[in-house]
Amino acid sequence: MPDSLSQKPATELAALLRNGQTSAREIAQSCIERVNAVDGTIGAFLGFDAGDFLKQADEADARRATGKTLGPLDGIPVALKDNISAKDQPLTCASKMLKGYVSPYDATVTRKLREAGALVWGRLNMDEFAMGASTENSAFLKTHNPRDVTRSPGGSSGGSAAAVAAGLTPLALGTDTGGSIRQPAAWCGVVGMKPTYGRVSRYGIAAFASSLDQAGPLARTVADAALLLHAISGADPRDGTALANPVPDYANGLAGHRGKPWRVGVPHEFFATGLDPAVAAAIETVIAFYRSLGCEIKQVSLPATAHAVAAYYIIATAEASSNLARYDGIRYGHRSAAASDAVDIYALSRAEGFGDEVKRRIILGTYVLTSGYYDAYYVRAQKVRTLIRDDFLRVFNDVDFLLTPVSPTLPLKLGGEADNVLAQYLGDIYTIPVNLAGLPAISVPCGSTRGLPAAFQLIGKPLDEATLLAAAHSFEEAHSCTAHDPADAK
Ligand code: GLN
Repeated sequence: MPDSLSQKPATELAALLRNGQTSAREIAQSCIERVNAVDGTIGAFLGFDAGDFLKQADEADARRATGKTLGPLDGIPVALKDNISAKDQPLTCASKMLKGYVSPYDATVTRKLREAGALVWGRLNMDEFAMGASTENSAFLKTHNPRDVTRSPGGSSGGSAAAVAAGLTPLALGTDTGGSIRQPAAWCGVVGMKPTYGRVSRYGIAAFASSLDQAGPLARTVADAALLLHAISGADPRDGTALANPVPDYANGLAGHRGKPWRVGVPHEFFATGLDPAVAAAIETVIAFYRSLGCEIKQVSLPATAHAVAAYYIIATAEASSNLARYDGIRYGHRSAAASDAVDIYALSRAEGFGDEVKRRIILGTYVLTSGYYDAYYVRAQKVRTLIRDDFLRVFNDVDFLLTPVSPTLPLKLGGEADNVLAQYLGDIYTIPVNLAGLPAISVPCGSTRGLPAAFQLIGKPLDEATLLAAAHSFEEAHSCTAHDPADAK
C-alpha cells in the first residue's frame, strides 16, 4: 500500500479530507517531501513554489473549517505541464527561448481548477514546445520513467506522466497535439485522456498547433481522470473553439454505465506491421475482457490511417511555424546579446533560443506553406484530414468506441532508440489520427509486459468522453493495473 498521501488517488484523498483524517496542508507537504526524496532520480519537475503551494493548502483548509468547501477537488494538488499558464509562476515550455518568463495571468484551465479548490502547483518537464515523444527535447532536464529509470517516460507530457506515476502528485495536466498525453500515460502506467477538440479551453496554454492542441488529465485512476476532466471542461468566452455543450458529471456517471454491452470496434489498420507483438498480446487480453462483459467486438476499417502521420507532420508544423513566429526576441523571451540590428535580433535570438527539433519543425512548416508548395502539401494534408475524420464518423455508425494500442512499442531506452527522430514520428501512428479527427480518447494501463507498463486506447465519438470513461472504469474495476502503488524509483 502507498505509504505517503501523495501516492494516493485523488478520490481517496477527497474522502480523507471529508472525514477530517487529513488536511490539505498535510497532502501538500507529502507531495513536497516525495519530490525532494525521489525527483532527483526521476526529473519530472522543472520547479515548484513551495510557499505558494502551502498557502493554497492553508486556504483550502480554512474553507473546509468554515464549511465552504468547493467540491471534490478542494485541497487536491494538480501539477501543470510547463506550457500552461499559472499567474506569477514561470512558464518556459522547456525552452531556452522562454527562460525567465513569468505568466501574467492564469490559463482558463488553471482558473477553473482554482475555482474547484484544487492546489495548482509545479512546472512539469516536457519536450520543448510540446514537440516530441520522449521528453528528451527539453532544453533543461531529462525525465526518467519511474517504472524503469533507464527508459523514457514518453512525451511530450513526460513530466506530467512521470510525476503521477512516481506518486509526486495525485493529478497533473498535460497537453495532447498528436498523442502527448496518451503515449506518456501508457509508458508510465497511468491514465491519460485527450478530450474532444473544443471540450477544454486553450486560453493561456502556449500554442503548438492550434487546430490539434487539447489539454487533459493524467491520473492514477479513471475516476480521478473523470473528476479532473469535469473541472477543466466547458465554454470559454476567451477561446472561440471551446464548445458550449453542457459538461456531464463524468465521475458520477461512471457507475451508471456499468456492464453496458457496448459495441467495440477494432480497426485492423491499427494492428499492422511495426506493432510490438507484446503490445498486441496485451490488447488481445483487453478485447477478451470486453467480450466477457457481453460486448460485441467488430472488426472495422479506417483506410486513411496510413496517411495520418504524413498529414499531421505537415499540418502541425505549418501551424507551429506560424504560432512560434511570436518568439522574435522583441515581444517575448530570449534576446540575443550579440545582435546589432533588428534583423539580427530576430535571427540570432531564434537561433540561440530554440532547440534542434523546434527549428526543424519551423523550417518544415514554413516550407509547406510557401506559395510554390502550399497546394502540393498543406492543402492535400487538409484533404487527408477530412478523409480520416470521415472514416471515424462512418465507423461510429456501427460501434460505440474503438479499442486500439496507444504506442506500437513499450517504453524505449533513453538516449538510444528514443532519439531517432523518424522512428519517433512513426511511433505516433495510433494517437495522431484521433487529433486530426478532433475525437476524445483515453489511454488506460493494462498490466505489464516484460516488466514494463502496457496500455490500451479507447477512441470515442465527438463529446462522448462519458462512454470512454465508463468503459475504461469497467476494465479498471475488474483488474488492478492502475498505478495505485508505483514501485519506488530504483
Ligand atoms: N509526438 C508528437 C509530436 O512530436 C505529438 C506531440 C504532442 O502531442 N504535443 O508532434
